[in-house]
Amino acid sequence: MTRRILVTSALPYANGSIHLGHLVEYIQTDIWVRFQKMRGHECRYVCADDTHGTPIMLRAELEGITPEQLIARMHLEHLQDFTGFHVGFDNYYSTHSEETRFYANDIFRKLQSAGLIDVRPVEQFFDPVKNLFLPDRYVKGECPRCRSKDQYGDSCEVCGAAYSPTELINPYSAVSGATPVRKASDHFFFRLSDARCRDFLRQWTREPGRLQPEAANKLDEWLSGELSDWDISRDAPYFGFEIPGAPGKFFYVWLDAPIGYMGSFRNLCDRTGLDFEAFWDRDQAAREQTELYHFIGKDILYFHALFWPAELHHADYRTPTAVNAHGFLTVNGQKMSKSRGTFITAQSYLAHGLNPEWLRYYYAAKLNASMEDIDLSLDDFIARVNSDLVGKYVNIASRAASFLGRRFDGRLSTDSEQGSEGRGFPALQDAGQVLADLYETRQFSAALRLIMMATDELNQAFDRAQPWNLGKDPSKTAQLHSVCTQAINAFRILTIYLKPVLPKLAADVEAFLNVPPLTWADSRKLLPGGHPIREYRHLITRVEQRQIDALIEANRESMKAAPKPESHSQARHAESQVHHQPEVISIDDFGKVDLRVARIVDAEHVEGADKLLKLTLDIGTETRTVFAGIKSAYVPGQLKGRLTVMVANLAPRKMKFGMSEGMVLAAGDGTGLYLLAPDSGAQPGMKVK
Ligand SMILES: [Zn+2]
Repeated sequence: MTRRILVTSALPYANGSIHLGHLVEYIQTDIWVRFQKMRGHECRYVCADDTHGTPIMLRAELEGITPEQLIARMHLEHLQDFTGFHVGFDNYYSTHSEETRFYANDIFRKLQSAGLIDVRPVEQFFDPVKNLFLPDRYVKGECPRCRSKDQYGDSCEVCGAAYSPTELINPYSAVSGATPVRKASDHFFFRLSDARCRDFLRQWTREPGRLQPEAANKLDEWLSGELSDWDISRDAPYFGFEIPGAPGKFFYVWLDAPIGYMGSFRNLCDRTGLDFEAFWDRDQAAREQTELYHFIGKDILYFHALFWPAELHHADYRTPTAVNAHGFLTVNGQKMSKSRGTFITAQSYLAHGLNPEWLRYYYAAKLNASMEDIDLSLDDFIARVNSDLVGKYVNIASRAASFLGRRFDGRLSTDSEQGSEGRGFPALQDAGQVLADLYETRQFSAALRLIMMATDELNQAFDRAQPWNLGKDPSKTAQLHSVCTQAINAFRILTIYLKPVLPKLAADVEAFLNVPPLTWADSRKLLPGGHPIREYRHLITRVEQRQIDALIEANRESMKAAPKPESHSQARHAESQVHHQPEVISIDDFGKVDLRVARIVDAEHVEGADKLLKLTLDIGTETRTVFAGIKSAYVPGQLKGRLTVMVANLAPRKMKFGMSEGMVLAAGDGTGLYLLAPDSGAQPGMKVK
C-alpha cells in the first residue's frame, strides 16, 4: 500500500549561517525521506526559513537594509547550503508569507473562539531610547546573586543563576546602552494551563509512537506539574505578523514558526495541485490516512510536543503522527568551538572542496533513533569514510569493472546462473527487509553496519575467486566473466541500500551501470545477461588529513569576523547581539569598557597550562588575578614590576585554573605578542580614555 507522508525539519532562523550542527537534522530527515520515496511512497518534505522577531529586525537595521532584504539574502544562502549537501526539499519556503499569515490568523481565531486566548498586562523592560520592549536577552546588568557584570537578563554565565530581567542590578539595554524602564502592556496568552489542554496532552503524548521513550518521560515530567500559559504576542516595533484586531500587537516568532510548516506545504499544494486538506484537516487526514512527521532537535521539544499539538487540536487541525527528536553535535568530543576551529559552516565545508557525501555517510553511521548527542570525531571521520566507502564499497566495482572492460567489452556474462533468472544473492537480497525496517525506524547506524558487513563478505568472495589468476588461464575465461558479473550485481544491490544516504554517488553508479534510477524493489532483481555497463570512472575520492586541517584552520580564522551563526531555539533566537560584526560604535559604547593602568606585581607559570601565565595586577584600589595567554612571548621574570593596561570591568571568568578577573591588552597578529604599556609617569589605577 502506498503511504502518503508529509515530513518537516525545524525551520532555520534567518539570522545566521547553516553549520555542521544544523546539518545533523537535515541529513537525518533527508535520508528518511529518500528512503520512503525509494520504497514508492508518496512522501513530501517541506521546510522554510524562520524569519520573524527582534533579532532579524535589529540586524537588518544594523546593516542598513529592510528585514525583507535580509531574509531574502539568507533564504538564498540557506537553500544553497542545503542543496550543496543534497538535502532534497520538495519545498523550501519562508514564514514571511501570506500562506503562513493565513494559518496563523486562522489558528489564533479558532483558539480565541474556543476560549483559549487570554489578554493580560505584562510588565517588561522598555528601552526609552529605541522605543522598544526588550526581550530578556537584550537586557544586561549585574547578576543578582554573584554580582558579576554584563550578564544577560535571563541567566548568569558566571554562577549559572536563572532570574528575570527585572532582578538585574544596574540593568542596561544591550541595544542602546540606555537604562531600561519598567512598562506594562497587554499581551495575548495561549491558555496551556486550561484543563482541556492538559487532558488532551496527557493522552496525546502517551499514545504509542508519538514520541521517543525519553521524550515521553520528559513530557510526563512537564505534564505532572502546572503548565504555564504561553505569551504569544509582542509589541511594535516587531518584524512579524500583526495580530488581527489588535493594532500594534504581533505574533511572537515562535507562534508562527511551526505554522510555517503548514504555510510551506500550502504553497507546495497550490503549485502542484496536491490536496492540502487531505494532510491537515483532522477528519480528512484520518479518513485518507495521511501521516505527518516533524524532525527536530531535542532543545525545541517543548514547542513541538506541548504547544504545537495543543494548538492544532483545539483549532481542528490534525496533530503530528510523530515528533522525532535528535541530539546535538559535538566535534572531537566537545561542543563546537570557534577558538578550536570546529564551528564549521556548511559553506566553508563545501568551499574547501570536501565531499558532502562523506559527511552524510559519517552522520548516518552515527545516527540512531534516540536523543543522544552524536560526535564528529575528525580522525574517525577520515578513517571510516576512507575504509568503508573507498576501501570496501567502491573497491568492488573498480576491480570487477576493469576486467569487464578489458576482457569482455564491458558486457556482463550471459551465463543463466548469473543473469536475471539466476539464483542471485539470497542473503544480500533478503537483508533488504531488515534494512528497510532499520531505515524506517531511523536506526541508520545499524543499517550501515549491516551493509558494510555484507561488503566485507563480497570483497572476500572476490579475493577467494582469484580473478587475477583466472585471467591468466584461457580455459577459465567464462569463470572470470562470471565472477566479475556477480561482483557487479552485488555492487548494484549495495548501491540500492546506500542510496538514501549517498544520492549523488548512487546517481553516478546508475550512470556507470547504465540503468535507470534504482528503487528499493530493484534489489530483488539482477541485471540481465549480457547487459552493457559503461567505462569505470572514479566514483569517490579519499578524505585527506590536510583537507581537514585546512578546514579547521580556516574556521578558526574566519569566525573572528563572521557573524555568529544562530540556530532555531528560543534562547538562541535572542542571543544574536548587536556585536555581530566589527562595526562603528558610539563613544558611549567605548565608555562601557573600563580600561585601567595596572602594575604587574607578580607573574607565575600555571601548572598544566601551556599558553597561560597567572598575573597579579595592582590597579590602585585593589589587586586582581588575571590568566593571560602570553606564555609564548614572556617569561614571568620579565614581567614583574611592569605597567600595562587591563580591562577592569570584564565579567570574571571561571577557568580551569581559577577565576580570571579581567584581561590585559596585547597586540599580535599570530606571529608575535606585545603587551601594551603606558608612557612613564602613569600610575596603577589611572583610567585609560
Ligand atoms: Zn551570577
